[in-house]
Amino acid sequence: MIKQLKADFARVFGGQEETRSFFAPGRVNLIGEHTDYNGGHVFPCSLDIGTYAIVRKRNDTTIRAFSKNFESHGVIQFDLKDINYDESHDWANYPKGVLWAFNNAGHTINQGFEVLFYGNIPNGSGLSSSASIEMATAVFLNEMFKLHIDMIDMVKLSQKAENQFIGVNCGIMDQFAIGMGKENAAVLLDCNTLNYSYSPLELDQSSLVIANTNKRRGLADSKYNERRTECERALNQLQKHLSIQSLGELSAETFEQYKNYITNPTDRKRARHAVYENIRTIEAAKNLKAGDLDGFGILMNESHRSLRDDYEVTGKELDALVEAAWEEDGVIGSRMTGAGFGGCTISIVKNEQIDSMIANVGEKYYKVTGLNADFYVVKVGDGAREISTSNV
Ligand code: ADP
Ligand code: MG
Repeated sequence: MIKQLKADFARVFGGQEETRSFFAPGRVNLIGEHTDYNGGHVFPCSLDIGTYAIVRKRNDTTIRAFSKNFESHGVIQFDLKDINYDESHDWANYPKGVLWAFNNAGHTINQGFEVLFYGNIPNGSGLSSSASIEMATAVFLNEMFKLHIDMIDMVKLSQKAENQFIGVNCGIMDQFAIGMGKENAAVLLDCNTLNYSYSPLELDQSSLVIANTNKRRGLADSKYNERRTECERALNQLQKHLSIQSLGELSAETFEQYKNYITNPTDRKRARHAVYENIRTIEAAKNLKAGDLDGFGILMNESHRSLRDDYEVTGKELDALVEAAWEEDGVIGSRMTGAGFGGCTISIVKNEQIDSMIANVGEKYYKVTGLNADFYVVKVGDGAREISTSNV
């Protein structure tokens, strides 16, 4: 892979000078959906698919960027003195946003570079290719320019780039999972405090299977904002009776006792999801630590039902994939992952049954939706890093 990308780099940018290679994974959230902005927990892991960056410094202040995923845009060029959002620069605004955030935080970069990106995760499907390209950029800037920034600060600066430069109101989970991820572990993150702990992801004789609905998340942005508003309204009503800062602080007992103070039944359902999903997520991490994969799978299934019935963010496509998976032998658990209304599902499947699962679920999905799903059997890899190329 790296050898090919280096050859591509030479073709696009010419020259003989040495390049360096970096990789940032994509991420998948195993459980804990729509809990981040409700002050709850999430439980993501970093994948062995993601975004590669091949980089070489220049002797001036010009930046030249090329993506193999967007070849038709050609090389996008700008100057270090002109780090502003530019619609015509399209995808390159993501790495530019990280430069912007670094500059604002006082990590000034005063030398240009050439960079070639290649991502082997789908774009816009909820595996967070945007945070992946941001974190790849953060790590190569840090290493190439010897900035000595902690990973956690790079995570926060990349989130800032996405929030303030790109204008997408995402939480911290994506950049966190991609920066702090570890091979064969999932990370339980408290989105309120940023306290985190790793759980070994020992899948034994099974694997993670991601299925992409290949449906654009058309509704996602407006519905995402609507859900945030509904949960805020529910929280405001509860706060008249309870001293809490977020729904994530509530136990099941307290929620049941006070839930009728939420007067709107829709808001009450949304809050119920936020509270119970957070409880499920903490329990799921405990299950994994105790080696109870079956218990983990049951919680994944419950998570999906709650997102379908209480939070109403699944839709025909995600439901078709998950419900077909539930019918298959060897499926330990299956749920939608990401914001919903499209994007991907995540399943844990026994290795012997992966082929039949993919064939059967794909066929059923096509019958219901007329769409072909893409399947990825993934491994849990390390977080964003430089790749040593001494042996390629
Ligand atoms: P997601 O993060 O769920 O994949 P987003 O819409 O947030 O979806 O981000 C996708 C965008 O990120 C792409 O449209 C592109 O602008 C940028 N991007 C991601 N990966 C790459 C890549 N390999 N090369 C260039 N741009 C990329
Ligand atoms: Mg994104």
